[in-house]
Amino acid sequence: MDKKELEQTLVLLKPDALKNSLTGYLLSQLSEFHSGLHFAGARIVAVNRILAEEHYAEHRGKAFYESLLDYITGRLHWEDEPWKRRVVAIVYQGADAIRKIRDIAGPTNPHVAREDKPGCIRALGTLVPIKDTAGRVISDRMDNLIHASANPADAEREIKLWFTPGDIPPMMHAYETEICDAWHGYADGRLFTQSEPGAICLFAPGDVAWRSDLETLRRLAGGLETAESLNYVAAKYLINDARIR
Ligand code: ATP
Ligand code: MG
Repeated sequence: MDKKELEQTLVLLKPDALKNSLTGYLLSQLSEFHSGLHFAGARIVAVNRILAEEHYAEHRGKAFYESLLDYITGRLHWEDEPWKRRVVAIVYQGADAIRKIRDIAGPTNPHVAREDKPGCIRALGTLVPIKDTAGRVISDRMDNLIHASANPADAEREIKLWFTPGDIPPMMHAYETEICDAWHGYADGRLFTQSEPGAICLFAPGDVAWRSDLETLRRLAGGLETAESLNYVAAKYLINDARIR
């Protein structure tokens, strides 16, 4: 397969898509017939705070950030039914995958989407006012049904954040992997390189990991600076783990 055919992108069917039973419609819009793209991976994910923070790291500190985390973790759409808080995470693969899915999704703001691109997925979304403690509207949250990676660097970061190599068929791996030669565990935001009671195993010798993740952990263990945090590496292994909230 040449490099162009290997382009991958991360799609999230967000909680509002599930709540409104729009998943079938969205999957049809993105299907191979319409988009020419192929499934490379799919997971049903109850998004915990660690994953939400890493996914939206670029928005940390913005007025809508906390509301965005409540949105993607499903707290806003299922306040009283925590077990329903889920998103569907999908990796699509094929030529021009990133642009094709962004086109089908449409503009970020659902009001703009309705004006500029009627018929796109996000034209079905809505804006929700965000208020401060005094009840004043300080921003709008954009409930726009779908996430789609914006460029190749974001796609790589996001796919490696949500998916382990084992979630994707080996012949569809777009990024380098490596066989682990050491044990790595996680507890309370700390990395353990030897088995530790209470620590969650990230991977053990013989497991297949993203090479860049192993490089990050080696640097962290050596006290060196890293582009990504331990939480970034660990998050995909903590997905749907009952010990993580
Ligand atoms: P996504 O990353 O979800 O595919 P995007 O790339 O079009 O969307 P981003 O700028 O990455 O847009 O923003 C991520 C998400 O944060 C948006 O989908 C939206 O829900 C929310 N968001 C972005 N900008 C704003 C804003 N100015 N006010 C409120 N919410 C926003
Ligand atoms: Mg984005």
